[in-house]
Amino acid sequence: MLENLTLKTASEGLRNKKFKPSDLAKDALERAKKSNGEINAYITIAEETALKAAAEADQRQEKGELRGILDGIPGALKDIINTKGVLSTSASKILSNFVPPYNATVAEKLLEAGLVLTGKTNTDEFACGGSTEYSAYGVTRNPWDKERVAGGSSGGSAAVVASQSALYAIGTDTGGSIRLPASFCGVSGLKVTYGRVSRSGVTAMASSLDTIGPFAKTVEDLALVLSTIAGADTKDSTTPKVAVPDYIAGLGGDLKGLKIGVPKEYFVEGLDPEVEKIVRAAMAEYEKLGAKLVPISLPYTKYAVAIYYIIMPAELSANLARYDGIRYGLKPEGEVNEILDQYYKTRDQGFGQEVKRRILTGTYVLSAGYFDAYYRKAMKVRTLIKEDFEKAFEEVDVIMTPVSPGVAFKVGEKSNDPLAMYLEDAFTIPASMAGIPGLSIPCGFKGGLPVGLQILAPQFAEELLLKVGHQYQLATDWHTKFPQL
Ligand code: GLN
Repeated sequence: MLENLTLKTASEGLRNKKFKPSDLAKDALERAKKSNGEINAYITIAEETALKAAAEADQRQEKGELRGILDGIPGALKDIINTKGVLSTSASKILSNFVPPYNATVAEKLLEAGLVLTGKTNTDEFACGGSTEYSAYGVTRNPWDKERVAGGSSGGSAAVVASQSALYAIGTDTGGSIRLPASFCGVSGLKVTYGRVSRSGVTAMASSLDTIGPFAKTVEDLALVLSTIAGADTKDSTTPKVAVPDYIAGLGGDLKGLKIGVPKEYFVEGLDPEVEKIVRAAMAEYEKLGAKLVPISLPYTKYAVAIYYIIMPAELSANLARYDGIRYGLKPEGEVNEILDQYYKTRDQGFGQEVKRRILTGTYVLSAGYFDAYYRKAMKVRTLIKEDFEKAFEEVDVIMTPVSPGVAFKVGEKSNDPLAMYLEDAFTIPASMAGIPGLSIPCGFKGGLPVGLQILAPQFAEELLLKVGHQYQLATDWHTKFPQL
């Protein structure tokens, strides 16, 4: 039944008593269990939790007391989001036995709204990667082609929406981890403005960049989820008291006169010509809707990946310093002589290769003598990238680009070549540096594989971004295509 529903239509069905929350939950769980062997989108399928939550929602439905649009709807959470009583591994061996005693704010808000949690989705370890190959719990495969990656790091969250075992999923995006997998799996994904959604209780990767956002089948559904999770939180001091607009009301209205910036730096060598054609066709569709394309330049784009791989590892190495196996997490195998030995062994046995690589880089760029040469310089360039966008948004309302240089690549194709993997994010990282929101929506196929369009807007302009995405989906049907499993 989930294949015929969106979050919105499922919610309407519940209100009209066409079916029960437990019907949705059973179908979701069946699909999750059936597809997980091949796709491995879930680290944990939370069957018991889901059935219990659904039974409670059944009762509310019967009494006509459903809480809101999300009540009784199956959804999934990335495994770096803490869920009380449900294993939360961050896809790392070092947290293989970690059952949090509390909920992350985002989980708490969704559970209060009636989330039926189908499970915890796979990711690259500690969200470090672009393909979900660097998970301690196996690779997530692309539902469109199981030889290929789902993208990352929120690959599991994108894959559960594409394989329709949940009607929405939450991921995180630090340098592209929602937008890239959304694009590879052919679903809609939203990276919010830095600070729009509380990160309390979500494993920190790079604290000056981390954001949390939804995946869904439609932009309208993204708006429904964002309405629930956005807003200030006293537990996360980076969430300002910026009012949360009515994202649903904001979806309406036409796009006449909308100015779309097309940055020349995003249509360069290295971009697959067929992907370029598809993205340009999507922008031509916007012209038909009354928008105007304006060539712009974001000259500092070319430094974004390089400085990301200074700033992110620096922050990551500090954040991961807390995993020492003392209070919780992995206990190392073999004899441990003294405390330092315990740290060494825990971290050596608990972290995967890519995470270790980043801890080493981060520790290096922060060490005395190198801090000015690398970290401080990178932060200066970051400001220049932010100013690039500020200048552009004086002229245009939104910016459109490809999400990535190509379509989903083969499993194993880039996992041993960090640089090739890092370049997958060349078009997503700049927006992360500027803290602005970005939407990825499906806009076509190359050889049976989905292509995504990236739409960027100024800080806290999610309302505009969602409207621009929604109007495209009213005019086209790319978002209605799903893989046969
Ligand atoms: N792929 C990027 C990285 O490897 C981005 C990860 C993310 O956004 N969490 O760091």
